[in-house]
Order: sequence, then C-alpha cells, then structure tokens
Amino acid sequence: MGKGTLKKALLNQTRDLNLSISATTRAARPGEVHGQHYFFVDQVRFREMIEEDAFLEWAQVYSNLYGTPREFVLNHLQQGRDVLLEIDIQGALQVKEKMPSGVFIFIYPPNLKELAFRLVSRGQDSKDSIEARLAACENELKHIDYYDYLVVNDKIDRALQKITAIIIAERCKIKNLNMR
Ligand code: 5GP
Repeated sequence: MGKGTLKKALLNQTRDLNLSISATTRAARPGEVHGQHYFFVDQVRFREMIEEDAFLEWAQVYSNLYGTPREFVLNHLQQGRDVLLEIDIQGALQVKEKMPSGVFIFIYPPNLKELAFRLVSRGQDSKDSIEARLAACENELKHIDYYDYLVVNDKIDRALQKITAIIIAERCKIKNLNMR
C-alpha cells in the first residue's frame, strides 16, 4: 500500500486534521478529481498564482509544477486545526523556513524495489516517470536530516500507528498547548 492509502486512512481517523490540496500542472490521472486530488491548472495559471504570491511553497517535481495554496493553510492554522501537506523535499525546505514549528515526517517505502513494484502495479506512470520517481526518492533520503521523523511505510497499520503517535505527541507538547 502506498502513500495515498496511508494519507486517506490518517485523515479518516484524525480529528482536526485537514488535507491541503495542491495546485499542479500535471495532467489528471484517470479517476482524479479537480479540487479533490489536486487543482489541475495550466502553466499560465500556475505562473499567475506565483505572481499573486498565492503559494506557501512551490516546486518543479519531475517535469511538472506543484504548489501549496497559502490561504487554506493559514486559515486552518488560525482556527487551531492542523494541516497535512504531502510535498517533496524542495517544498518541505521552503515550508520549514517559513514555518519552523511545522512537523516534518519522511515517509519512506520499505525499499526501492518495493516502490518500483508499487508504481508499476499502479499502472499510471510511464517508464521514465517511474525511473524519475525512484531517483528522487534516493535523492530525498540524502536530505533526511531536515526532517523530524522517519516512518517506513512497510505495513500500512504500523505506519499509520507511528504517524498517529507522532501527531498525538506533538499535540501534547507544552509549547503547542494554547494555555495562555
Ligand atoms: P504525483 O504526481 O504522484 O501526484 O505527486 C508526485 C509528488 O509531488 C508527490 O509525492 C509529492 O512529493 C509532490 N507534491 C505534490 N504536491 C506538491 C506540492 O504542493 N508541493 C511540492 N513541493 N510537492 C508536491
């Protein structure tokens, strides 16, 4: 089971956790819904959004642009809710710079062979895209020091339990309690 399944399960069972929907110039895969999986926009609109400073972070990942709309994240944080961002290392570094109190979790596949198997069996990525994804995963591992936690996504239940434990612990931190 991949990151998508893990994300869905986590959102289902965690209160006050909302998913940030990214904008992307990538074409929608079969079954993907605009506004639910991504906001699918063209290059022109994406560039406009950059000009409008609409992104908390954005990056080119593989050959497409992806960005996190700023307003959604800020509004939810202001309301005392948490926001889940599923973004790459370039985006994570930008968010870390702007929001150092964020919690950064590196979700790692059990091994690259397993990741390759998952991508091939998903049947939605070209050979080039799969190779790029495997290379990116190796590259991201080099930046592991920037993250706060590492969760190996071997068994979905176990990975889910670990991420839930991280969220609970972070929410219990004195500095994160609004007591004043
Ligand atoms: P996919 O094309 O498979 O939906 O996403 C590929 C990768 O793009 C994801 O695994 C994630 O790391 C990255 N990604 C998705 N949305 C964003 C975003 O808003 N910002 C950044 N920096 N990366 C993103």
